[in-house]
Amino acid sequence: AIIDRIEAVDGRVQAYLTRTAEQAFEQAKAIDAARARGEKPGPLAGVPMALKDNLCTEGIRTTCASRMLAGWVPPYDATVVRRLKAAGAVMLGKLNMDEFAMGSSTENSGFFPTRNPWDLERVPGGSSGGSVAAVAAGEACYALGSDTGGSIRQPASFCGVVGMKPTYGRVSRYGLVAFASSLDQIGPITRDVTDCALVLGVIAGHDPSDSTSADLPVPDYRAALRPEIKGLKIGVPREYFGAGMEPEVETVVRRAIARLEEMGAVCEETSLPHTEYALPAYYLVAPAEASSNLARYDGVGYGLRVPGKDIIAMYMNTRSQGFGPEVKRRIMLGTYALSSGYYDAYYLKALKVRTLIRRDFEAAFAKYDLLATPTAPTVAFRLGEKAGDPLAMYLSDLCTIPINMAGLPALSLPCGFSQGLPVGLQLIGKAFDEATLLRVAYAFE
Ligand code: GLN
Repeated sequence: AIIDRIEAVDGRVQAYLTRTAEQAFEQAKAIDAARARGEKPGPLAGVPMALKDNLCTEGIRTTCASRMLAGWVPPYDATVVRRLKAAGAVMLGKLNMDEFAMGSSTENSGFFPTRNPWDLERVPGGSSGGSVAAVAAGEACYALGSDTGGSIRQPASFCGVVGMKPTYGRVSRYGLVAFASSLDQIGPITRDVTDCALVLGVIAGHDPSDSTSADLPVPDYRAALRPEIKGLKIGVPREYFGAGMEPEVETVVRRAIARLEEMGAVCEETSLPHTEYALPAYYLVAPAEASSNLARYDGVGYGLRVPGKDIIAMYMNTRSQGFGPEVKRRIMLGTYALSSGYYDAYYLKALKVRTLIRRDFEAAFAKYDLLATPTAPTVAFRLGEKAGDPLAMYLSDLCTIPINMAGLPALSLPCGFSQGLPVGLQLIGKAFDEATLLRVAYAFE
């Protein structure tokens, strides 16, 4: 049924970069055979899903939506892929994204833009736009995305699905093609909170192959889904309702918060005073790390090679032709910020600001169990509307980026409509307390 659905709608939505229906049937048959032998199927047995194309899949091309990796076939599975397979997942293919996850609309894909299933003239958000559009359009039962500065939550908000960025370290990044390693985190994109809990439970947990993965027990997230939030303290940071926010989006989000109050939560306005510095600090830290991570695409080790008269010309030809304009912009910004003489003024300063942002959250979580904000200041915008203006595009991550800077878990949950388009409520939790986020989201849903 899902493959039929892809056939019917993907020509218009354009979520998939690579389709693997044949392998999916093989996987499904293998699960049936195991069942016939009396083996107990995994918790995701037979459920069709798809993956953002920056997650390595053994034998299946993994492009990061970049010309640079158009022909690259990884020799191994990412840890999350291995875990999903072990749980019985069936993979239908790889999903479109902004090139190397840099963007907020999926218009930076090196291949084609994905469209928002609610309105095909609008963007699905990004960078996990293909993952979110596929789930929203019924082209996959769930998907995985990656979130460096909002790339799961902002598109989830634009397309009316549930998207979670777990705590930094909760899910192994082994086999996720790196963008900004201190911020990147993989997470589930699902139609409802129960599915989110189920998928998170499968992909979370310690992995010796990722030195930043946390060696902590993984709770039973499904057991945590009790619709009981009486007495829970929820902070509402006023800085997240600032300029640039569409008034109707604010109304919808405030109404959602009022509903949490009716259900017995205690909601209170609070302040995270360094919020306004999160975006500028992110645009130093993320490009700095990206410039370093992307140095490996030199025409030698991976993907594209464009010959030249000597090795330097080969490097230059490969990188000029392989990377799109946004990726080049980030490499230039990051290289500049890390240059000797500028390092202290920009990169080091940004790291100090990051500490201040983290402390804002620590102070807030001394008083509150969780925080509630809008996921994005607007509903999905039109294709092309912000494509020529990188700063306007960067502003659509105003509410999501601070959470990556602090390494905290957060979830975007559909909470209503503005102009007929979905609006997301963002819930932000204490480090490694995904269970409380899921519980509140479940109660709300
Ligand atoms: N939109 C942000 C950026 O362009 C975040 C991207 C992401 O989370 N991968 O960097």
